[in-house]
Amino acid sequence: MTQTPRLRSALDDIPAYKAGQPPKVREGVVSHKLSSNENPYPPIPEVLRAAELALESLNRYPDFASTALVEAIATRFNLPIEDVAVATGSVGLAQQLVQITSEPGDTVVFGWRAFEAYPIVTLIAGATSRPVPLDSNDRHDLDAMLAAIDHTTRLVFVCNPNNPTGTAVGREALERFLAAVPPDVLVVLDEAYREFVDPGRIPDGLQYYRQYPNVAVLRTFSKAHGLAALRVGFCIAHEPVAAALRKVQVPFGVSTVAQAAAIAALHNEGALLEQAGLIAAERDRVLAGLRSVGLTPSESEANFVWLRLGQQTSALAGMCDEAGLSVRPFADEGVRITVGTPAANDRLLEIAAEWVALAGLAGEG
Ligand SMILES: *Cc1c(COP(=O)(O)O)cnc(C)c1O
Repeated sequence: MTQTPRLRSALDDIPAYKAGQPPKVREGVVSHKLSSNENPYPPIPEVLRAAELALESLNRYPDFASTALVEAIATRFNLPIEDVAVATGSVGLAQQLVQITSEPGDTVVFGWRAFEAYPIVTLIAGATSRPVPLDSNDRHDLDAMLAAIDHTTRLVFVCNPNNPTGTAVGREALERFLAAVPPDVLVVLDEAYREFVDPGRIPDGLQYYRQYPNVAVLRTFSKAHGLAALRVGFCIAHEPVAAALRKVQVPFGVSTVAQAAAIAALHNEGALLEQAGLIAAERDRVLAGLRSVGLTPSESEANFVWLRLGQQTSALAGMCDEAGLSVRPFADEGVRITVGTPAANDRLLEIAAEWVALAGLAGEG
């Protein structure tokens, strides 16, 4: 008789994280990876140099408290170092946030579809997901999310802008929501794409962290700062929350190279924000191009676009794939396509035009 180790039954329901695929390599086809919302450009020289220098101390453990990085973040955003927690990407922090608030019997509220890590980290903690459908514009329905909060709710994720739809909630709706959420429920504003939004229109989560003790803000170095491979993100939250995040952190999780590169990225943020601005302009060009051939992408504030294509999702994804573009299909729902270099975006618009002509989609709305 073979006995196997007993594992937690909560793990049985955890869906696998579907990572964006690399493009297929084909003879004579230029390929672009548009499936993971990465920055299409390699790190700027200052960041690369800082990372290279850090390689010389790979024999030593990293600074446990990421002291210099925490200080750089606190200085950059003008807040106390006690309110900063860093970890292995903001996904790591999302997991820690659930871990410090929620246990079996507790619920975690989030819009759906939103970032696919939310249900996963909820189940890992043994808590229960309470997904709330997006509204007809693929935007978070904050009134419905508020209604979904009850005495079992410990945490609410608001992904702003939302992955995978790119839509963002505006100031008025968010302020009404935050004023109504019970003060013992933690609201996590996931702002992984903050650098791509129009700050005049989309509210800055840090303003609400300053106003409400139950608001935490997630940011990352993986997107605009171009350091996805190094795994480093941060959470800004009031001291009790930030201190709890530090308690449950994976010891030495943020490597010396990640700490050094992230600091260099902050010190050279002007160049990176300029690059993010160019990517946002390309996003607007892609949105306009898609609309001009009759497609209906959601309003995007991020570095990707979303086409709700339902049953036709896999057909467009397949066509992109044939043409050397890897995109991120969500079966029978829609396709998320990362804004790439201008050449990649041109190619996407060509394919979109071909697809509309082939599928006779124009005019269907
Ligand atoms: C990409 C992304 C992150 C960033 O994840 P990291 O772990 O920091 O790489 C966080 N939240 C959302 C919604 C994202 O799309």
